[in-house]
Amino acid sequence: MDAQLAPGLYIVATPIGNLGDITLRAIETLRGVSAVACEDTRVTGKLLNHLGIKVKMIRYDDHASDATRDHVLDLAAQGPVALTSDAGTPLISDPGYKLVREARERGIAVTSLPGPSAAIVGLTLSGLPSDRFLFAGFLPSKDKARHDALEELAGIPATLVFYETAPRLGDCLSAIGAVLPGREVAVARELTKRFEECRSGSAEELIAHYAAHPPKGEIVIMVAPPAAGDGSAVDVDALLVAAMEHDKPSQAASQVARITGMDRKVLYARALELK
Ligand code: SAM
Repeated sequence: MDAQLAPGLYIVATPIGNLGDITLRAIETLRGVSAVACEDTRVTGKLLNHLGIKVKMIRYDDHASDATRDHVLDLAAQGPVALTSDAGTPLISDPGYKLVREARERGIAVTSLPGPSAAIVGLTLSGLPSDRFLFAGFLPSKDKARHDALEELAGIPATLVFYETAPRLGDCLSAIGAVLPGREVAVARELTKRFEECRSGSAEELIAHYAAHPPKGEIVIMVAPPAAGDGSAVDVDALLVAAMEHDKPSQAASQVARITGMDRKVLYARALELK
């Protein structure tokens, strides 16, 4: 360590699979802090062990009590404290935002050390537009809630990025195929690891592939934006048919109107024809 770290909260990104991705600054900081608040002391313990660092760890996960948060903040007011998650960037579908918020409210210095995040690694591999993207974290696991969440995102002119687990990949791709028909999808797996892959295709192609080759490991799913500003490129019939799998024609028309900006009455008439 060159200089002693000032008191404060240091958000430290850690590798998502390849230990070589730890940054020099992350190592120096973990070496210099008085405590590490982490999601799981066993997981972070392994990383610290690998780096030859011995430091006090405090469990800080999604269920952390107000008292634990207060304790971490008291320590950060007096000395340097790191926040890490099991992998990747803390706060990105991981705990930490309340801690950061309260630290800032209390006037405790907060600094963030950039490093790996699966969403960014996946996006950069996908070949999908990266000038505008929306990170939507994990979709709900229940069918109806997942369908509704996708519908809410359907009209957003940006590449959509989701986190997913291997057992739920098939269901998630089916929902994407139904609610966002015709969009290119990319599935990125095992990023930065030995069996890293990024596979693109339609939702249907990917469903068939992963049915034949059940996926393992951690997954990022990306979905291409809707066809740019061109109403004619949107397959309105497909959207209506997909929406009517779950809802009545009137509701389907309202949903598709929301997504496409088209007239609801016109869509309702078309929905009745298609039914
Ligand atoms: N904070 C982490 C980050 O910055 O990427 C994400 C934590 S979130 C609880 C875990 C999810 O991230 C996994 O279910 C998966 O969707 C994604 N993920 C993490 N590591 C990954 C990897 N090596 N390859 C693909 N996806 C990964």
